[in-house]
Amino acid sequence: MVTTDPAALAELVSGGGVLALTGAGLSTDSGIPDYRGADGKRRFQPMTAQELLATPAARQRYWARSYVGWPRFAAAEPNAGHTAVASLQGAGLVGPIITQNVDGLHQAAGSRGVAELHGSLTHVVCMHCGERYDRSMVDEWLQLANPDFDRSATGALRPDGDVAIAESLIGDFRLAHCVVCGSDLLKPDVVMFGESVPKDLVEQCFAQVEAARVILVLGSSLAVMSGYRFIRRAVRRGIPVAVVTHGWTRATDEEVSVRIDAPLATTLTELADSLAGRRAS
Ligand SMILES: [Zn+2]
Repeated sequence: MVTTDPAALAELVSGGGVLALTGAGLSTDSGIPDYRGADGKRRFQPMTAQELLATPAARQRYWARSYVGWPRFAAAEPNAGHTAVASLQGAGLVGPIITQNVDGLHQAAGSRGVAELHGSLTHVVCMHCGERYDRSMVDEWLQLANPDFDRSATGALRPDGDVAIAESLIGDFRLAHCVVCGSDLLKPDVVMFGESVPKDLVEQCFAQVEAARVILVLGSSLAVMSGYRFIRRAVRRGIPVAVVTHGWTRATDEEVSVRIDAPLATTLTELADSLAGRRAS
């Protein structure tokens, strides 16, 4: 029987052994928008890895938009929701964190043991030779290659850290090249739309799910199977699932013990405050 009572959430979390599964809804207060609106419908159609690798024109489009968005994405800071999760972890109540986010904000808030299911935008990988680079380094190469490019376009930041810009700007954008092999097949080190999460990472996450006492879903609609499969496994093992998400989620009332549809930062701050000093025995 599903409840919407915050006290039930606190009770569940107070016993410790909590695995947090987090998604885009946790980062919207940091200025990074969600793919989906409150109705669960996808608002953006992200580029697939296949498209990115297929033509130089697609890579110009991806990297020009990403180049404009990067300073803003890189400047995003953890919000009260990330801080509350780190504080629950510090209190020994939350253990591992599995995140669908590519923004690194859990780590920036001081959380440890974060599995980045969809990778991280902080790195770039060469799809020709496999070399991996810091995004900040690739950003410097892009600046050198595009000294006259106007980076101040003022479109809305999109969930992947890019900004929709005028078509006329895209054709002139010069790509960066891998310094090891010279290829321009550079891809953000994230699981792009249409790609799979690496198998060993999935197995590691399944093991963490099975070892957990409670699964706490934060800000994820669970719309994509990469996250939802962990909920299915937990339900099959009889591990209770609590969901705190603003808006629609795929998880059904049969799968969930506690469901709270409310803003994340407020709910998590109240949860962390109410449990402050209470440590799992
Ligand atoms: Zn290379």
